[in-house]
Amino acid sequence: SEEYPQLRKNHVVAVANQKGGVGKTTTVANLAVALAQKGTKVLVIDSDPQGNASTALGIEHHAGTPSLYEVLVGKMALGEVAQPCPNEPSLLVVPATVDLAGIEMELADEADRSYFLRRVLEEYLAERESTLVLIDCPPSLGLLTVNAFCAANWVLIPVQAEYYALEGISLLTDTTNKIRASLNPDLDIIAFLVTMFDKRTNLSAQVESDVRTHYPNQTLKTNIPRQVTISEAPSWQQTVVTYDKNSQGSVAYQMAGLELLNKLIEKEN
Ligand code: ADP
Ligand code: MG
Repeated sequence: SEEYPQLRKNHVVAVANQKGGVGKTTTVANLAVALAQKGTKVLVIDSDPQGNASTALGIEHHAGTPSLYEVLVGKMALGEVAQPCPNEPSLLVVPATVDLAGIEMELADEADRSYFLRRVLEEYLAERESTLVLIDCPPSLGLLTVNAFCAANWVLIPVQAEYYALEGISLLTDTTNKIRASLNPDLDIIAFLVTMFDKRTNLSAQVESDVRTHYPNQTLKTNIPRQVTISEAPSWQQTVVTYDKNSQGSVAYQMAGLELLNKLIEKEN
């Protein structure tokens, strides 16, 4: 397999959308495997207490497994809880367990509550280079997502082509702007990715066209098609990139990964 271009710097990308079911986790898991297969050093941080990214990537995450929770409460370092993905051992994954569900309450009274993830990630990345960190955010704009936005340089926004999406997206772009203005001046949107695209429906075409009209430069050229094996793969602790490798969905995630990589490299200059 031909290699993709290589990053020269570390990049931290929060994959976020406050709406559930838009393809955040699917995007994180598939981009991570696709890029790791082509030689990018990838760390996935599962920041959703539901642990769906951990499941999809075949990572142990029963209650009590050392996870992002232990890291955020200061008991362990990120590198100590990261596990190699069985399907792609060069890919490292920080699992989320149900323990993470209580973290927003636990951190609520801390003055620096927005920066817990940033601190541990800075420590991790200080000893590494050319690493792509993908953070799978929960479906809310709560403290876990704020922590992801404070730890990240970039936000990647999956947009579900099956639902009138623009209103939700403007809330998310407003939030990104507010966080850049107040908590993290280094934050910006790197890309929008149209997911669950069905070329037979008018709604898909309409949503895609709206997103491209509003965000012409940031919307990835590749759309992710709606495809049954994309949704089946997690039950086999797989991603479509390994489970149904030559399908349109798999190829789309590989192309979207290459586009993302090229955008990040462009920003390094
Ligand atoms: P989120 O993390 O935003 O909540 P998920 O990635 O979990 O969203 O996706 C929601 C559901 O849709 C999951 O059951 C997932 O398997 C399914 N899904 C995601 N992308 C696709 C796709 N391109 N085609 C078919 N099903 C998809
Ligand atoms: Mg999810």
